[in-house]
Amino acid sequence: DDRISRISSSIRVIPDFPKPGIIFQDITTMLLDPVAFRDTIDLFVERYKEKNISVVAGVEARGFIFGPPIALAIGAKFVPMRKPNKLPGAVISEEYSLEYGTDIMEMHVGAVQAGERTLVIDDLIATGGTLVAAIKLLERVGANVVECACVIELPDLKGRDRLGGKPLFVLVSST
Ligand code: 5GP
Repeated sequence: DDRISRISSSIRVIPDFPKPGIIFQDITTMLLDPVAFRDTIDLFVERYKEKNISVVAGVEARGFIFGPPIALAIGAKFVPMRKPNKLPGAVISEEYSLEYGTDIMEMHVGAVQAGERTLVIDDLIATGGTLVAAIKLLERVGANVVECACVIELPDLKGRDRLGGKPLFVLVSST
């Protein structure tokens, strides 16, 4: 698919960000290429439009870039999964581990109803810890998490294997 190679080339790789030794995949350069950005959204929409998905849950921060256009195109609602103390209403929280230390993800109570078919979206899966936290939060309110989707997978970190059997769809793999 020509679209995949254009998307892949549009992602900039920055060594030693945010710390020495980390090779950062920077999707902001893709956003500068309207064809690559549109193709990215189209590929997700093509996959999810006939799947009766009523919720697109996007993980802060870059899931907020890709999630809303997908949600609008497939006729689903968009639900932000946020860093702690950002959402103003009543929330449920899930703590999860990072490479060093822990973080917390929050979701508004009442945003998702039990049984709703839900897609979780983020820009990138590394260890999978972030997606696992999102899945847990959604399943606590009874959501049916149908699939997770990311633009980029770092397959060497085997995050896919931590998703408890949930399907993961990605556009680009990076080693
Ligand atoms: P994980 O929890 O899978 O280890 O890390 C994934 C999370 O960290 C995602 O929310 C993603 O946005 C962020 N992340 C980790 N590494 C990178 C990277 O190289 N590029 C980008 N854009 N995000 C990253």
